[in-house]
Amino acid sequence: MIEQHTNENLKVFHHIDTIRKVLDNSRHHQRIGLVPTMGNLHDGHLHLVKTAQQYCDIVVVSVFVNPTQFGIGEDFESYPRTLQADCEKLAKVGCDMVFAPSVEEMYPSLPTKTHIHVEDIANQLCGQSRPTHFAGVGLIVSKLFNIIQPTVAVFGKKDYQQLTIIKQLVTDLNFPIQIIGAEIIRADDGLALSSRNQYLTAEERIIAPRLYQILQNLKQQLKNADFASYHQLLQQTHDELTNNGFRVDYLQLRNEQLSPVTKTDKKLVILVAAWLGNKARLLDNIEIDL
Ligand code: AMP
Repeated sequence: MIEQHTNENLKVFHHIDTIRKVLDNSRHHQRIGLVPTMGNLHDGHLHLVKTAQQYCDIVVVSVFVNPTQFGIGEDFESYPRTLQADCEKLAKVGCDMVFAPSVEEMYPSLPTKTHIHVEDIANQLCGQSRPTHFAGVGLIVSKLFNIIQPTVAVFGKKDYQQLTIIKQLVTDLNFPIQIIGAEIIRADDGLALSSRNQYLTAEERIIAPRLYQILQNLKQQLKNADFASYHQLLQQTHDELTNNGFRVDYLQLRNEQLSPVTKTDKKLVILVAAWLGNKARLLDNIEIDL
């Protein structure tokens, strides 16, 4: 039944029927955790695996570069595909299974006729510049939930909007799955780890950590400010990012549910997407407890 062994413990599957059958034999007595990824794994992904291991008996990592979440002209073709190296990293942290299907296996025909659109949350922030992105995310995550039927699924807070959308999707579609948001893992200089960081040139990589530093400064300022001055502080930070070479896609302050902030909100999030050079669009966020 197992399709490929990279080492004694990690089992790699490429077909839906096969992994379903294997998991069906376990699911009544073991808790299954799912970590959806697009591969090219780094320590941020491995942190999600370790988080899932705390909650589950079997951890499945999906590795699939999902075409439906890429817009026209985006990096679907060039997105790094490194399955062998990914499996080696996963084996080292004691992951149990990898699900790495082909595009044909996941999408026998494209475009699909079923669409998943999570209203309001998906239209804003990244949804403004990537209007089809979250529909593709909602679709692939729903498919993975149906195939793996996990007890728990772990997503990174790095993609805060995505995490919020998945929580809403699970509520709206009654998936019996606990969604866990794992903390952002950063390089020593503060840059949030991302598979797309390799699009940065050496010079850009030196500038990139300023994004997090500038967000941290804003966080401190917001903590000491009154509600009336939030807007001005955001505007100043926007200018500071521009002056440091970032092309800001958005810089927004929201409450925990990603709605506009009101005076009574105590848990806020600063969210940013900013281009550095022509290839790298950096995404980051910081939570604030007032
Ligand atoms: P990706 O492979 O980029 O689609 O990401 C797969 C999962 O890993 C998503 O839930 C991301 O939010 C999460 N992730 C990516 N980078 C990080 C990071 N630096 N820290 C924590 N989670 C991350």
